[in-house]
Amino acid sequence: MTIKLTNSKTRKKEIFEPIDPNNVRMYVCGPTVYDRAHIGNARPVIVFDVLYRLLRHVYGPEHVTYVRNFTDVDDKINVRAAESGRSIREITDETTQWYLDDMRAVGAMDPDQMPRATEFIGAMISMIEGLIANGHAYAAEGHVLFSVESYKDYGKLSGRSIDDMIAGARVEVAPYKRNPMDFVLWKPSSDDLPGWESPWGRGRPGWHIECSAMSYELLGETFDIHGGGNDLMFPHHENEIAQSCCAHPQGGFARYWLHNEMLQVEGKKMSKSLGNFFTVRDLLDGHDGMPGVPGEVIRFVFLSTHYRKPMDWTAEKARIAEIQLTNWAQVIRAHPWAIAEKNLNPEKFSQSWVPVDVLAAISDDLNTSLAISQLIALSKPVLPGSGFFEPDSEEASNIRGLLAGCDILGIDLVKYLERILLKEKETQGDGRLAKLADHLFALRQAAMETKDFSAVDEMKTALLDAGVEVRMSKTGVELEPGPNFDVAKLEGLLS
Ligand code: AMP
Ligand code: ZN
Repeated sequence: MTIKLTNSKTRKKEIFEPIDPNNVRMYVCGPTVYDRAHIGNARPVIVFDVLYRLLRHVYGPEHVTYVRNFTDVDDKINVRAAESGRSIREITDETTQWYLDDMRAVGAMDPDQMPRATEFIGAMISMIEGLIANGHAYAAEGHVLFSVESYKDYGKLSGRSIDDMIAGARVEVAPYKRNPMDFVLWKPSSDDLPGWESPWGRGRPGWHIECSAMSYELLGETFDIHGGGNDLMFPHHENEIAQSCCAHPQGGFARYWLHNEMLQVEGKKMSKSLGNFFTVRDLLDGHDGMPGVPGEVIRFVFLSTHYRKPMDWTAEKARIAEIQLTNWAQVIRAHPWAIAEKNLNPEKFSQSWVPVDVLAAISDDLNTSLAISQLIALSKPVLPGSGFFEPDSEEASNIRGLLAGCDILGIDLVKYLERILLKEKETQGDGRLAKLADHLFALRQAAMETKDFSAVDEMKTALLDAGVEVRMSKTGVELEPGPNFDVAKLEGLLS
């Protein structure tokens, strides 16, 4: 299968030819870890997860290396630490875990490597030393700056000339810069800020050098694909290219550059002041009186728009996606043999049954919206109400194709079906969990007064025993049926 990708470097759709089909390498810029990821941040994660799955499908899972970093040294993190009185490490550890949990919840696989910038400071210092040695960077007043005039291709990726950039820049120019566009590779740290010893004194790296150093260490001086949102094209990616190509002129750095367009909400740019800003966790758990949206639904909505087009998140799209996914889940519920076949050997199942049209669509510059339309068409003859189809019937290939097609898009239909089954169990429980949550909260409030928590603990144990996940806080109690939820064990708990 030929893969075609739109390369921002050439502004053309090109046939993807890996440097080494036995080791296809991709780097994607990851988050700065100081807060929950907003839903826009999930877009590159989902887009490049589909590309990762496609590459694994075509070249074999053991022949693909995907690296996505965590930026855990940044002024925004320092500010957050100072404001909250918490340590930087505490904040970055907590946020990193949130990020992983939230992205897994929208079906993203973990990349093969997830380096933290602070683990590669030595590599950054070496790269900066090399850049100074070959005349591309200079030290001044505890800083090290990259000299943009020393790199003739500076601005090529984003299509800007240095003169235009200078004219457009309204920033106050630091006195130690030779050219206003020169950017920081290293900066000094005062004693209260994180810092590392370096030939230029105690300091910390600039943001751009992180990705150049980590991609070099983990993927080499040249690799196949570099991705990120198109807001990163300038200056971040432009600067990564300048650093890497000057430090390793033989390498050429990344060959295919892919950029996803931005996400908006209900037709408007997401912003806190417009009240349309929310995190992935808000969406998953429910917020502002809105119910939670399952990760599979979020993913379906995202993939319904091509990655190079602006995408609008709307509640209506989520509603439609939910109906579609419910129908598909009912198809596999009616045909458990398909789930059993897949479970037997998921990789082989996917290799054999991803529909050719779906694979062709994804291979054509990740046309996930077309892939979804094809799955919709494929599922029509087997939708609920169409009857039962034996594994050797003609329609069986539609069912297998639906399951495997969803799989390569990272939509876990089996998990979605499990959600439906749990919900059904919960309704059979006659809304009992909601009543129990109120009851447990009342017990907790009373216990706060009396300091006797035995009734709270007793009820909590009984709920855990019934397979219910219990989350208690000052503001309320949340009860969620877990995978071993047993509605019968709730009997008698309310009496
Ligand atoms: P940041 O933590 O802001 O550097 O962003 C992490 C990733 O999310 C980058 O690849 C950004 O391009 C991407 N990103 C940020 N905002 C949006 C948005 N509204 N839509 C799509 N991608 C975004
Ligand atoms: Zn980067």
